[in-house]
Amino acid sequence: RLSSANISMGTPPQQFPSMRCSSVVREVERMKENRERRRAWQSEQRKEKSALMNRDPGNPNWEVALMVRQYREQLVMKPLRSLSPRPLCVQQITVCVRKRPLNRREMNAKNVDIISIPNRDSLIVHELRHKVDLTKFLEHHKFRFDYTFDEDCSNTLVYECTARPLIQTMFEGGNATCFAYGQTGAGKTHTMGGEFYGKQQDCSTGIYAMATRDVFAELASPSYRELGAKITCSYFEIYGSKVYDLLAPGKPLLRVLEDGRQQVQVVGLTEMPVSDVQDVLHLIELGNRERTSGQTSANAKSSRSHAVFQIGLHKPDMWGTFGKCSFVDLAGNERGADTNSADRQTRIEGAEINKSLLALKECIRALSRQSSHLPFRGSKLTQVLRDSFIGGEHNKTCMIAMISPGLTSVEHTLNTLRYADRVKELVAKNDDGT
Ligand code: ADP
Ligand code: MG
Repeated sequence: RLSSANISMGTPPQQFPSMRCSSVVREVERMKENRERRRAWQSEQRKEKSALMNRDPGNPNWEVALMVRQYREQLVMKPLRSLSPRPLCVQQITVCVRKRPLNRREMNAKNVDIISIPNRDSLIVHELRHKVDLTKFLEHHKFRFDYTFDEDCSNTLVYECTARPLIQTMFEGGNATCFAYGQTGAGKTHTMGGEFYGKQQDCSTGIYAMATRDVFAELASPSYRELGAKITCSYFEIYGSKVYDLLAPGKPLLRVLEDGRQQVQVVGLTEMPVSDVQDVLHLIELGNRERTSGQTSANAKSSRSHAVFQIGLHKPDMWGTFGKCSFVDLAGNERGADTNSADRQTRIEGAEINKSLLALKECIRALSRQSSHLPFRGSKLTQVLRDSFIGGEHNKTCMIAMISPGLTSVEHTLNTLRYADRVKELVAKNDDGT
């Protein structure tokens, strides 16, 4: 198996060592045969190269495309297409990766898809490297996660594997939390909020809406119908260390307070009662408008903030929430590198994003170790979500790391995957699945 392929694409057939005089004739014959085989092999390689060039003239990345294709030819592809059988028990921490398709702009620029997802839990990044003599070769980085979603997986399938199993947690009195992590443009908002059609977003196809639909279905089921429970929704944004209510027009700034018993409260946060999915879709749209309004460069700002959508379950005889589901569309992780920016404000924001993503990783790791040391005060994000990380096995967390498939995103992609890998370290499998 090739662990790296250089641009000569494989090894030419070997020559045999020369033998004694008596076998000279046979040896000459054999050398001739070898030479012919080598030539045939070289000519095949040349044909393949030129076929690729002809099919895609002027593609500056044709060598990478060819090397990736050759590597993929020897993979056994069995991608995830449905969640069957359903897992019997839900893990406390699930970490998954979703790769989006190359977009039109990337295809026009001849960007190459360098991510292979051969099956439901592994992923390979083919990184382009150069030897000292400048020959190109691929380095193959292998990762393993609970689930790996390729570009053909739908939002519904992603939801079924990630957030769907967490819904029950809230009915058992726990906190379920689902994070979308990754580089700006990798698909966090598409997955959480819903698919985009141009600038329009169809909120009914996002995880927020799908989860709400199942919460209402569960509430109407025989086991919970008699409970008389109510559902509320909140939607807020954490920008730097400020918290804004997305369901209150005018965006009042909210204060986060911690009382003597370490209970954290977002003071004055709207908890809107909802009675069906339509109500919720309406709120999500309202919140999304607030999130992007009044900004000169809408995307730039929303990529620097964390958006948190929460569904609360309230029992009639109980103050506060009985159980909660939180869905977090995190700030673009590449923004953490803005700490070198020339602009002071951007630098401060970058540092805050960095701090919050590091604190988040440590809090999830602490949850998995049932550790009593919870570094939630490290950032506003983890402070606000403190309830998600305490309370032992009652609480469940899922992280979906989003990645862009292109050659040009390789550095951010590797950063994202290494982060996700640290959140939950699973051992990578060999090619034969062991
Ligand atoms: P992020 O929120 O991570 O910055 P977006 O969700 O806004 O990224 O996605 C950027 C663009 O890529 C959007 O136009 C979105 O529609 C598209 N996109 C993202 N993920 C997918 C996917 N799985 N399939 C198709 N298009 C996608
Ligand atoms: Mg986004």
